Order: sequence, then structure tokens, then C-alpha cells
Amino acid sequence: MAELSNKDPASLLSQLIKIALVSLLVILSLAAASIYSVYSRHVISRAEMNAVRIGSALLALERGTLLAHSAEGSRIALDVENLPQLDRRLRQFLKPFAIIKIKIFSYDGRIIYSTDPSIIGRIDAENSRLKKALAGEVDSRLEKKDEVIDLAEERKFDLDVVETYIPIRNDKGRVIGSFELYVDVTAARRDISSGVGMSMLLLALALIFVFACAFVLVRRGTNQLKATQNILQILATTDTLTSLLNRHQIFLRAEQEFARLGREREGGGTKKALGLLMLDVDYFKRHNDTYGHQAGDLILKEIADRLVRSLRCYDFVGRYGGEEFLAVLPGTGFLGTRGIAERIRERVEAEPVIIGGIEVPVTVSLGLACTTGEEGSFEDALKRADEGLYRAKSEGRNKVAWI
Ligand code: GH3
Ligand code: MG
Ligand code: MG
Repeated sequence: MAELSNKDPASLLSQLIKIALVSLLVILSLAAASIYSVYSRHVISRAEMNAVRIGSALLALERGTLLAHSAEGSRIALDVENLPQLDRRLRQFLKPFAIIKIKIFSYDGRIIYSTDPSIIGRIDAENSRLKKALAGEVDSRLEKKDEVIDLAEERKFDLDVVETYIPIRNDKGRVIGSFELYVDVTAARRDISSGVGMSMLLLALALIFVFACAFVLVRRGTNQLKATQNILQILATTDTLTSLLNRHQIFLRAEQEFARLGREREGGGTKKALGLLMLDVDYFKRHNDTYGHQAGDLILKEIADRLVRSLRCYDFVGRYGGEEFLAVLPGTGFLGTRGIAERIRERVEAEPVIIGGIEVPVTVSLGLACTTGEEGSFEDALKRADEGLYRAKSEGRNKVAWI
């Protein structure tokens, strides 16, 4: 029973709260990451689609300026004199789209045109993504740019850009170069972020609601469990008629107190004593026979009350038999124990118990024993108290006796 009560059901609740918080964090993080990645892929593929369409339109429009024809099919070639006009037309063409930069590569990886004129003519030999494009694959990647100058020569900060390489093929289907288009997806990314934020907020509210319901249910269950545990604890340790400790508990406490005497002695503390009192109601059978069993029960309750009132708060008292009680008085020597025993005896004798309006005089006999733990075992001390009680009975009852 003691073990049972140590496992407080309230710990279930604190565990539930911890699990709920961890689950909330894990679920929200996973959900946010997956929703974000799905939307990001969607933004990249839409930007790529746009870039491919724009690239095809550009090629159709500037075929004459960009391509030179030969026997093996057309190839990318651009006359330097045509650059300013091409630049103007391209900027004009790209105005309605969210393109912030464009490069055109020839088959050998040379930049033959860029909206940034300073890099025209450079060969981007180590660019693996360009190599992929020149091998015929469209390649897109989302990048963060701290600072970009757009087609209108405006400086822009903190942009999200999808960089797409698009292979340029000639009329025979051979890859002859590549476009690189920078599509500005900052607005889409911001929409995603606020969308993900809103979804997470709703999900968090839903989860909190679910966890709160679970918490309320578990709390109700644990409260019931706790109440049942308390009832079981009381039933297992107390006597139902008198509400005193039951036989098992009072002996347990008495043995604990006796063991404490030994520990305190070994610890070098001052010598202490333990007082034991055995009380038995005199001629109780007669009361039962005269007034009935229920009246007998009432007398037992009344004796129990007077016993408790006569003891100190750190004493223990229990019912260990039918009309027999045991009181354990820690730190009490012979004189103290005798004084308390007399007080109890007098208190019982002084006031008759009222049963159905009738005053029933009741007396008790008490046997006492005192031990410092050195004179023998706990059982020896208990036996002495029992013998004292026997003596009190044999000397006429309503007495305190010892041997
Ligand atoms: P003595 O003075 O020698 O102690 O005599 P006594 O009559 O008190 O002792 P005895 O042992 O002869 O009788 C005790 C009686 O207590 C017998 C039993 O029926 C009664 N008794 C035991 N438990 C209870 C109880 O819970 N309620 C009631 N009403 N009676 C009980
Ligand atoms: Mg008895
Ligand atoms: Mg008796």
C-alpha cells in the first residue's frame, strides 16, 4: 500500500504535459518543413516553366541576331555591333516578366550576352550547372541574393531567385548554347512563408485543443485514481469503527519507534525511552449484553476519542483487538507513561458514556511498560505491558499497573 501511494497519479499528468510539448514541437517542425519544401518545389517548377517559355520566345525573336548558319546547322554567334540593340530589345521584351538578369552562353561556355556587360566574353568553364545545360538538361535552383541590380538598373536587396539554365538547340536538335535566367520569386516565397506560418498556427491551435482535451480527461482519471488510492490507504491502515490505526499499523509504528531508539543510541544521542500502554475496557461483554452490540460499538468509539484527546500529537494509538487498544508514547519515560495512563483512566471513569439518554459508567484497565531498547526486544516490552494489564485486571480493574 505504501508503495502504491508513493506512485502519485499526478506524475502521469506531468508526463503527459512533457509528451504533449515534445509532440507539439516535433509535429509542428515536421509539418512546417514538409509544407515549406512542397511549396518551394512548386515555386521552383513554376519559375522554371516560365523561364523555359521565355527562353523559347527569346530564341524565336532573336534567331536572326543570335544564330549563324553553317553546313552542320546553326550555332550561337553574336556580332559585337549588334549587342547594344540586342540589349535594348531584350530589356524591353523582359520588362513584363519577373526576370532580373539574363545570360546567353555559347557552346564553349563563353558568355556572349549578359545584362551585366562587364562579364560578356568570359568563359564559365567550371560551371557544372552550365555543363549540364550544355548536355541538354534544364537545371533550376533557388538562391538567396543579398543584393541584385535588376533590368531597370535598380538595386534590389534580399531577393529569392530561381536560376534556370535552359539549353539552346539548333534546327537539328543539337545543343548549341544555353540561357541562364534569374526569375525573381521573392513575393511567392513571402506568400509561402506567411501561408506556412498561418497553417502552423492553425495546426498548433488544433493540437493544443486535442492535448487540452486529453489533459482534462487524464486529470479527471488521475483525480479519481488518487481519491480511490486515499480511500484504500485509509481502509488498509485504520480501524473502521474507531478511525484509530488498525492492529497491523499500530504494531508497525511501535516497532519503528523501538528501532529508532537503537539508531539514536548508536548515533550517540541522549538515551531516550519509549512508553507502551495497553488498555482494555472493563466488563465490556456486560455492556454488550445489557445495552446491545451497537451500544458496545458506541462505547468503543467514545473510549477511542478520549484516548486520542489524552495523548500528545506525536503519540500513536491503535485498536489491536476487540476492546483492546495500544498507545505508543515516543520519548516518554516511566513517570510520563504512568501519568498519561492515569489521565486516560480518570477521563474514562469521570464521565459516563451516554447511550440512548442513559448514563453508562465505563472503566478501563491499563498495563504499561517502558523501554530504552536495552532491556530486551520490542516483544519483551509488549509482553511486560500485557502482564501489567493482566495485573490491573486481577487487582480489581479500573487500574494502571506494571511489573
Ligand atoms: P474484562 O474486564 O476481563 O476485560 O472483561 P470483558 O467482558 O471486557 O472481556 P471479554 O474478553 O470477556 O469480552 C470482550 C467482549 O468484547 C467480547 C466481544 O463480543 C466484544 N467485542 C469484541 N469486539 C467488539 C466490537 O467490535 N463491538 C462490540 N460491540 N463488541 C465487541
Ligand atoms: Mg479483552
Ligand atoms: Mg475487557
